[in-house]
Amino acid sequence: MEGREDLERETLGRRNRRDTLIVTVVFLALVGTAFLGVKLINPGYSREPYQRTMFVLEDYVTITAYGKDQARVEGAVDEAFRELQRLDNVFDRYDPESELSRLNDAAAREAVPVSEDLWKVIATGVEIYRESEGAFDITVGPLVDLWDVLGRGARGEPPPGDAEVAAALKLVGSDKLELDEAAHTVRFLQPGVVIDVGGLAKGYALDRAAEILQSRGVRSGYISMISTDLTLGEKPGSAGGPLWRIGILDPRGEDYLATLLLPGETYVSTSGDYQRFFEYQGVRYHHILDPRTGYPARGAVSVTVVGGDDGARSDAFSTAVFVMGYPQGLEWVKSRGLECLLVDASGEVHYTEGMRALLEGIKETTTP
Ligand code: AMP
Ligand code: MG
Repeated sequence: MEGREDLERETLGRRNRRDTLIVTVVFLALVGTAFLGVKLINPGYSREPYQRTMFVLEDYVTITAYGKDQARVEGAVDEAFRELQRLDNVFDRYDPESELSRLNDAAAREAVPVSEDLWKVIATGVEIYRESEGAFDITVGPLVDLWDVLGRGARGEPPPGDAEVAAALKLVGSDKLELDEAAHTVRFLQPGVVIDVGGLAKGYALDRAAEILQSRGVRSGYISMISTDLTLGEKPGSAGGPLWRIGILDPRGEDYLATLLLPGETYVSTSGDYQRFFEYQGVRYHHILDPRTGYPARGAVSVTVVGGDDGARSDAFSTAVFVMGYPQGLEWVKSRGLECLLVDASGEVHYTEGMRALLEGIKETTTP
C-alpha cells in the first residue's frame, strides 16, 4: 500500500500587507489505497473533502466538508454559504439597507424591533460588555468610523486628533442602549450612538453555518472565517484525522507562530493588530479600539482563544482579551474556561496551561 501526504498551507484573505488572521493548515493525507480499502477503513466519509471559499461578512470564508454522499455535502455547503450571505445583509454596517444600518438610523428616535439574529448578537454583545467591564463594546461605531484605519491608510492621512477622539468617545458606551427582552426592541438613549457588531457577528454566523452543515449530513468539516473558526466532528482518518491541525499566524512574521491539534467542535478565534491597520510616522494604528481611551488597544499584538460552546462569545472574547491585554486578559478568559495564547507588545508569547496540551509546535517569541 502506497501512502502520500500532502501539506497544504492556505493563506487566505490577505488585506493590507499581511492581514490573514488565522490560517488553516490542512494536512490532507491522500492515502493512495484502493477505493475499497479506504471505504473499509473509513466507511462514513468521502475520500476527499468538498471545499469552497467565498468572500462574505468582510472576509474569506472557507468551508471544508466530508460526508458520505458527495452531492448532499455539496448541497449543504452551498446552503451554508447562502445563510452567511443572508446574515451579511443583516450585519453589514456599510450597506445602508442592512438591518443594522436601519437600526442605527432609527433607534435614537424610537424603540426598533429587531430580528432574532440581530437581537442575539446585540444581546450577547451587551452581556460581554458587562462581563469585560467595558473592554468589549459594540457601541464603538463612532470610534471605528473616526479611525477609519483602512481609509486613512489609503489616503496617507494622520491619526485623528485628541479632541476628535474625545468627541467620538462621548457617543460610546453600551449603557446607552435600552434592550427590551420581551419585545425584542433596541433603543438608543442618546443621539449619535452607532452599533458595530464587527467584533462578534462572524462568530454568530459560524454557528448558523455549522447548524446547516450538521443538519444536512456533514459529519466532519471545518469552517474558517479567517479570524473565527470551528472544527466539526473528527477529521476523517483517511485525511490524517482524528485531530484537526490549525495554524496561528505569527503577527510579525510570514510563518506560523504555533500549530494546534484540535478535536471536533472546537472554536478558535484570533484578534490581531496586523489584520487592519495603517502606519503613520512609524506608528501602527489598528482596528481594535479601547472603548475606555478611544485609541487602538496596546496591551497585545495578537490573541487567540480556544474553546467554549458559542461562536459569538468566542469571537467577542478574542477582541475583549486583546483590549484587556497582558496579563489581565489572559486571566479573565481563563476564568471563563477558555484557553488562550497572547503575544504581548514586546513580542513575548504567553499562554494558558491548558493551551500547552493543544500545541503541536510553538515559537516562544516574535519580533516586536
Ligand atoms: P475582531 O477582529 O473580532 O477582534 O473584531 C474587530 C472589529 O470589532 C473591529 O473591526 C470593529 O468593527 C469592532 N471593534 C473594535 N474594537 C472593539 C471593541 N473594543 N469592542 C467590540 N468591538 C470592537
Ligand atoms: Mg472578535
